[in-house]
Amino acid sequence: MSIDPRILGLKDEVTAWRRDIHAHPETLYDVHRTAALVAGKLRSFGCDEVVEGIGQTGVVGLIHGRNGPGGRVVGLRADMDALPISEETNLPHASKIPGKMHACGHDGHTAMLLGAAKFLASTREFEGSVAVIFQPAEEGGAGGKAMVDDGMMDRFNIREVYGMHNMPGLKPGHFSLRPGPVMAATAYFEITIEGRGSHAAKPHEGIDPVLVGSHLVTALQSISSRNTDPLESVVVSVTIFQAGDVANVIPQRATLKGTVRTLDNGIRDMVEARFKAIVDGIARMFNADIALDYQRRYPATINHPAQTVTAATLARAVAGTNNVNDDAVPTMGGEDFSYMLEARPGAFIFIGNGDTAGLHHPAYDFNDEIIPAGIQYWALVAQKAGLAS
Ligand SMILES: [Zn+2]
Ligand SMILES: [Zn+2]
Repeated sequence: MSIDPRILGLKDEVTAWRRDIHAHPETLYDVHRTAALVAGKLRSFGCDEVVEGIGQTGVVGLIHGRNGPGGRVVGLRADMDALPISEETNLPHASKIPGKMHACGHDGHTAMLLGAAKFLASTREFEGSVAVIFQPAEEGGAGGKAMVDDGMMDRFNIREVYGMHNMPGLKPGHFSLRPGPVMAATAYFEITIEGRGSHAAKPHEGIDPVLVGSHLVTALQSISSRNTDPLESVVVSVTIFQAGDVANVIPQRATLKGTVRTLDNGIRDMVEARFKAIVDGIARMFNADIALDYQRRYPATINHPAQTVTAATLARAVAGTNNVNDDAVPTMGGEDFSYMLEARPGAFIFIGNGDTAGLHHPAYDFNDEIIPAGIQYWALVAQKAGLAS
């Protein structure tokens, strides 16, 4: 590990910010307290520009390097939102808001990027400028897309953009990433099967939506097992199947809901087409009316090759050569940093959170010991990224 002593000196202060944010979780775009805290701190650090209200409640701070404005601008991004989960940690800094919790570590991401902003604004030991990006609504609200759609990239002339997420199970302060797809594209589906209710003893007089739904659940699994190259990745999960409430009645309708995950854009198209064809086919087969609501959500998070090499090199400078895995296995989770990587070249990296509860678990907590490594990584990205091009 190679951490600047001035960054090590920020650890206690940043830890206090992290725990304060943790105790006051806010969800989706309703991150007013957190965004105000972020903007206030950025101003107190002497950032050259602090703009609030980008993508509703996002905040961007601009910090010029030693030569002032005019050079390349690199974007560093953190997310600010929490989850609708009830915390079960009993920690002194546990959530004070019932039913809300920082269970994905965005409190830590925000605090580390604030720490980096303080370091960069006070030292200015870099060329060009840095845009520190604090986004709302990563957890399902596409806050990253909202900031991009609000013109953030052009407004600040951002050339490259970098993101970081903690990863439980990876050793504290170690890093992992890969070029290409690193997290999945997501889709949400809702299927409503309109059958014909009847007495359970007279099934021939009805159209049984439970039977239709059961065939659908099975047939949809053939997309991954029979339509997809076995070396590619597809997940189709039916997670909700609701029908009936009386044991001797065939119900009128059934509802199925779930999620689809893919890593490749061509496969994303194929899965959606097959999904619709299977629903249509099963409807005809059983003479049922089936309505399908298939919604694409986040695109895949796809790291750009050159920026991934840069990120891995800088991570090795922080954590040591053997503590960075630059050939990590992708995960089928979704992440809306994907929208920023569609707008600009960049890379998304994972930093180990150590042996903690998993993300989105009620016992999860961000590991404050990794704060210096995270700040050091951001400082190096600010100093080195995007200068060669
Ligand atoms: Zn999450
Ligand atoms: Zn997250």
